[in-house]
Amino acid sequence: MSLEARTQTLGQALLAATRPGRSLLAQMREQLQWDEKLLAWAMEHPGLRTQLFRLIDTLPALTGSGEISRHMQEYLDQPEVELPELLKHLIHFTGRESLAAKTAAQTLTTAVSTLARKYIVGENFAQVRHTLERIRRQGMTFTLDILGEAVLSETEAQGYLQKYLDLMTQLAGVDWGCVPQVSVKLSAFYSQFDPLAERTTRIRVTQAVTQLLRKAGELGVAVHFDMEQYKYKNLTLAILQEVLLADEFRSRTDVGLTVQAYLQESEADVRELVDWVKSRGYPVTVRLVKGAYWDQEVIWAQQKHWPLPVYRRKSSTDANYEKLTRLLLENHRYLYPAIGSHNVRSQAHALAVAEALAVPLSAWESQVLYGMAAPLAKALVERGYQVRMYCPYGELLPGMSYLIRRLLENTANTSFLRQRLEKTDESALLAPPAWAEPTTPLPQIESFVGTPDTNFAEPGKPEQFLAAITQVKSQLGQTYVLPHCSTERLLDSVNPSNPTEVIGRVGLADATSVQQAIDLAQKAQPVWRQTPWQQRMDLLLKIADRLAAQRPEWVAWMALEVGKPIREADAEVSEAIDFCRYYAQMAEQLERGHNYDVWGETNRYRYQPKGIGVVIAPWNYPLAISVGMVTAALVTGNCVLYKPAEQSSVIGCKISQFITDLIADLGLPAGVFQGLPGWGEEIGPLLVTHPAVHFITFTGSRQVGCQIYAQAAQLVPGQTHLKRVVAELGGKNAIIVDASADLDQAVQGVVQSAFGYAGQKCSACSRVIVLESIIQPFVERLWAATASLVIGAATDPATTVGPVIDAVAQERLQTAIAQAKQRLTLVGERPAPAMGYFVGPTIFTDVPPDDPLAQEEWFGPVLAVLRVADFDQAVQVANGTDYALTGGLYSRTPSHIQRAAEELACGNLYINRGITGALVGRQPFGGFKLSGVGSKAGGPDYLLQFVDPKVVTENIQRQGFAPVAEEL
Ligand code: NAD
Repeated sequence: MSLEARTQTLGQALLAATRPGRSLLAQMREQLQWDEKLLAWAMEHPGLRTQLFRLIDTLPALTGSGEISRHMQEYLDQPEVELPELLKHLIHFTGRESLAAKTAAQTLTTAVSTLARKYIVGENFAQVRHTLERIRRQGMTFTLDILGEAVLSETEAQGYLQKYLDLMTQLAGVDWGCVPQVSVKLSAFYSQFDPLAERTTRIRVTQAVTQLLRKAGELGVAVHFDMEQYKYKNLTLAILQEVLLADEFRSRTDVGLTVQAYLQESEADVRELVDWVKSRGYPVTVRLVKGAYWDQEVIWAQQKHWPLPVYRRKSSTDANYEKLTRLLLENHRYLYPAIGSHNVRSQAHALAVAEALAVPLSAWESQVLYGMAAPLAKALVERGYQVRMYCPYGELLPGMSYLIRRLLENTANTSFLRQRLEKTDESALLAPPAWAEPTTPLPQIESFVGTPDTNFAEPGKPEQFLAAITQVKSQLGQTYVLPHCSTERLLDSVNPSNPTEVIGRVGLADATSVQQAIDLAQKAQPVWRQTPWQQRMDLLLKIADRLAAQRPEWVAWMALEVGKPIREADAEVSEAIDFCRYYAQMAEQLERGHNYDVWGETNRYRYQPKGIGVVIAPWNYPLAISVGMVTAALVTGNCVLYKPAEQSSVIGCKISQFITDLIADLGLPAGVFQGLPGWGEEIGPLLVTHPAVHFITFTGSRQVGCQIYAQAAQLVPGQTHLKRVVAELGGKNAIIVDASADLDQAVQGVVQSAFGYAGQKCSACSRVIVLESIIQPFVERLWAATASLVIGAATDPATTVGPVIDAVAQERLQTAIAQAKQRLTLVGERPAPAMGYFVGPTIFTDVPPDDPLAQEEWFGPVLAVLRVADFDQAVQVANGTDYALTGGLYSRTPSHIQRAAEELACGNLYINRGITGALVGRQPFGGFKLSGVGSKAGGPDYLLQFVDPKVVTENIQRQGFAPVAEEL
């Protein structure tokens, strides 16, 4: 009998053994229990499914029936949600404290708890033991997985390990008649698990795994390692392979690894694992699953513009699953295959292959998730196969994300379980999966597709950047003198992580240099404004290409000169490239202008360059902001004088040199673009007030920005125009965390937004406004997560918080922190390395809204927590500063999200995500109030600021004659 025929026979037998009397879905619909009904409705109504799962996700954060019933209405009582009559009836109450509202809340809570209990074996060990004993009586073995919140801190990572050590001890105290097994997730052993920080991650995770395996060995408990998101996969496999080759563990056969068949790399991984396990000489279990993070992987890859790691079609995954099943079973002498699936076809195929290859029944096993396919498991056991049940255990609240994953899976169109419920046609259920990967590219929904950041999970990437750092280090200490600048007056730019290291010496510009540069610019201006738009756009594209080709070097220069950690510096290179390509794209539209013609008259609306622009840049985005401001002015036909910040003078010179070279290559005059490094106070006013200058594009502090605005407004002799000032200034950015927020997400987002680049992003979160009811757990976790950040040199790939920019900033922050300690409640202050301009991340709580810490921009790793009684107050406090740059909200209350969008005063509002890292063309960036004047960088209106529109109207009628359409 062919393998396929045998698969069909076995599949039919399994289906028959698990066949429900009549359609399960029909039964569920008729059930009296609400949990069954909710699931049935979710399958039938896609709109309801989304809202219902969102509501279920929110449920653990809601206290009291008033809150629960209010959220039921907010989520479900929407025009786009088709509600079944019964549910409509349930949520149509008035008054949140009414009896009807209480009934609704109670019904939902009970239904969801009942649902959760179907997938979770217990909330404590007594319950777990009870369930596991039942599973054993049914002839199955088990693996136990502890559900938990995301691990955001080392305290939580330690807690996770400890829970497993305790659980294993408890398991070892019971005679199960089999080896008990636990399943663990590697990323939970180190809160800063990161493929970029490979060495540190390896060390920390290996320590935990060693401790776990030792204890498990002593207790006689087996350990299986789960697989999580793709970004962790390579490092997870590398760590495990190394640990399991160590003398101490090499002969252990009671351990296992997991492979996800939805990953395109999974076949290569299995082949590699087979070679590895052969060389190891002792078998390990390899669990084959399809993979539980498909939606997340697709969204992540799409957002990052990275290749999709997973198959696009479920049937391709199923086909790959069968291929890998065979590969594993063929190697059963070297490893122990565990085939984890609820799909009867997949399991029947495994049985047929095992049979064909004469794999002994004891040499492999099937696995199913608890609560997902009990009849299938039973049928397999009855036929003499080994079955292990994967059993999640833990409190229902942290288990909610697990529940949502299961619900999504169970109710998805492509899910076998759902098809089983709906389909009576069994041959379709058992059909061999067809390879169905589309060859067409993924549908693109963006009008501007940005350049992808480096994916540091790709093999060899971290090494490539480290090599660039070494190479750039060999070029430190050189002198850079741009045209017109002094060869004697030099500025030393130093490495803020290690100030004894001079990055370079830069010749300074002075009054004479400014005048010479302006003279040249005036000469070049007529040529540049006549240069066709296309040539100007080409220049931008060339700049972009050059930046892209030298990405690792630019990252190295930024890490060394301004202390920007590698991943953030990498994102900055992408941003710089994006500015060039985006503004080139926008210039195309400007070039077209507008035609407002009528019969006999043309009306042409066109844009012409303003003339000469001064660009004054900050140090904190030395590459992206400089390149963005410069290229916007250039592409619109203006000549540019560019003054980089003192602290990033070397990068400023490098930018100047390479743009100047490109301009020279194009045969254009040197005056089109000139770099003028110098002291801001000295040459800044000279540039700003010069009568030949038409506009100033500035990004920097409020104080300097206001000064420039005032200076530029003064008409000086010889000046025949009014100047435009585009100024991007500071912020006092707040994130509101309300009571319905997902704390895992909120803590993570606030920590990243507050301490990324040591709080020196203009978009950084410096205030977090927290609802009283959750402030205590929030602040506890916030501090624990902050205490786990790695502070160090920016060039160290493990670093999450680097130094502040210079000694002045360090001293200013240290003084401000010391003073704040006198009047405010300190949550914690991280010790900072002694060498380098480091300031340890610091958090104060219960900061009054009018305290300087809640009002002034400190521009460093200092975060103020503000307590508020309710959401109204949160909005009021958030809006109570002079600034309006960025802001954020963590909430799962739809009405709060809506209000925030309408009422929060900020140029960029981010909901349920971090508030930094705006992307060109996706989140055009910039604020209002005292955060700046002008339109958003990386947005559709930005270029308009550097042109003067002009309308030419021509009467094309001569003696009553003009072309007129024939049909008139
Ligand atoms: P800064 O104002 O001290 O310096 C900015 C630039 O201005 C530098 O090139 C400096 O040399 C120059 N400068 C200084 N004095 C000058 C003068 N009198 N005339 C003309 N130019 C002068 O700011 P910084 O410390 O480099 O940057 C940090 C500030 O920038 C923060 O306030 C931050 O919020 C803001 N920032 C805002 C954005 C945004 O997009 N809104 C982006 C990045 C930084």
